[in-house]
Amino acid sequence: MRPGGQSPCGRASGFAFTALLYIPRGQTNFAGSLRRDMLEQDEIIASIREAGVVGAGGGGFPTCAKLSAKADVLIANGAECEALCYCDQVLMALHARDVLDGLLLAARAVSAKRIILALKGKYEAQVEGFKKFLASAPYDRIELLQLPDVYPVGDEFVLTFEATGRVIPQGGLPIDVGVIVHNVATLHNIARASRGLPVTERMVSVCGEAPRPAVYMVPIGTSFDDLLRACGLTSSKGLSVLDGGVMMGNLVDPGRAWVKKTTSAIVVLSSDSRAIMERSSSLNRVFKISMSVCDQCTFCTELCPRYLLGHNIRPHLIMRRSGFTRALGDGVLAESHFCSECGICSLYSCPLEISPRRVNVFLKQEYPRPRQDGGSTQPRPEYHDRRLPSSRLKARLGVLHLDGPPPTFAGQLEVSKLKVAMQQHVGEAACPIVVVGERVKKGQLIASINKGQLGAPIHAPIDAVVIEVSADIITLER
Ligand code: SF4
Ligand code: SF4
Repeated sequence: MRPGGQSPCGRASGFAFTALLYIPRGQTNFAGSLRRDMLEQDEIIASIREAGVVGAGGGGFPTCAKLSAKADVLIANGAECEALCYCDQVLMALHARDVLDGLLLAARAVSAKRIILALKGKYEAQVEGFKKFLASAPYDRIELLQLPDVYPVGDEFVLTFEATGRVIPQGGLPIDVGVIVHNVATLHNIARASRGLPVTERMVSVCGEAPRPAVYMVPIGTSFDDLLRACGLTSSKGLSVLDGGVMMGNLVDPGRAWVKKTTSAIVVLSSDSRAIMERSSSLNRVFKISMSVCDQCTFCTELCPRYLLGHNIRPHLIMRRSGFTRALGDGVLAESHFCSECGICSLYSCPLEISPRRVNVFLKQEYPRPRQDGGSTQPRPEYHDRRLPSSRLKARLGVLHLDGPPPTFAGQLEVSKLKVAMQQHVGEAACPIVVVGERVKKGQLIASINKGQLGAPIHAPIDAVVIEVSADIITLER
């Protein structure tokens, strides 16, 4: 055991830099903003830190760091706008009260004056479920916002604009306009943390071509293969698996993928579907196709949600320029940093099935991040008319027949073996503090973060024996 010892992972701390990101512009003297309720904020944040809560919507940012800032608006993100993803809808139906409790705790921590619960109006059952609580104290402080069924309304930038009318600056964060956004699953975990319960499990939907689509509550570290088998998929011949939704999920080998705190959906699609082909083509091929056939129709730019919010991102120009130059410092290529990787340009807009998104992902790794200034604080006039209806997107993706109401909640999935990753969050990887052969209890701390580092501790998801420990993974067997 080596609690609080030196991390063997050898990674530099990102705390100072990242924590600063959450200090709003103009709030330079953070200590000076301390309020009388600071002790309470400290207690809330300490419980969240100890429970290992991170952004469950996919970001994985340690929630305690996000709540260390002050914001005047706090938004609960229940939009779940990705195609064939359902876990947040099921979570909101089953744990409405916990979501609201987590929202109030988070609001207290950041001293938010406005608290908004945002979910799509089409989630009628969930809306009705929340309304029952919102009618009386203490939940009557929370505003209910029913969002349109458009993609990507759950993107923090789009959501912040839809909920408050404020445009986050390009390359910025919601806190730059006084807003903090938390996914509803994160809020559920905040409520559990306040009761002393660490993050050991999460809800995951398995949909698409899976024979028996379902939503399960699974221990962190469950293998994708186990989940797929539980949903009736015994052979993945001709099929491919995405960790995440159809638009933004990553192609994975299910035999080598395990549920993390940020895993929300597994989508199974035919390997020759457009969504899979877009991800599986080589980057070289993407560049060649773009250079030879892009006709500069500008559709990719005209429908880009970030462009529509007024940011300086023009994927059609990026595609043209990347065919001629890769010069460092090129202003157009650097615009790729303002891309959210939502996939609209690649999977919806481009008539020639070129992938500006893939090019942007590549360029972001190669090019320095440009200065944040520039871009507008107002959306473009065509913003509202060009929002993309989800049904039209699903039709274009060829997945309408796989869509429908959320699948049944199938309960807890019992598994015998888990592989728990040490890097499930932004920041420092957690450092194992258990040894092979040790017996651990559900909820016991098994990997810690050095004091002062940005990161999140990890707890045993089940009663188990430790059978393998490396700097990356702890393997547990029931
Ligand atoms: S993926 Fe395409 S549409 Fe989406 S933000 Fe990036 S450039 Fe715009
Ligand atoms: S939509 Fe396709 S063809 Fe049109 S400019 Fe963009 S990448 Fe080129």
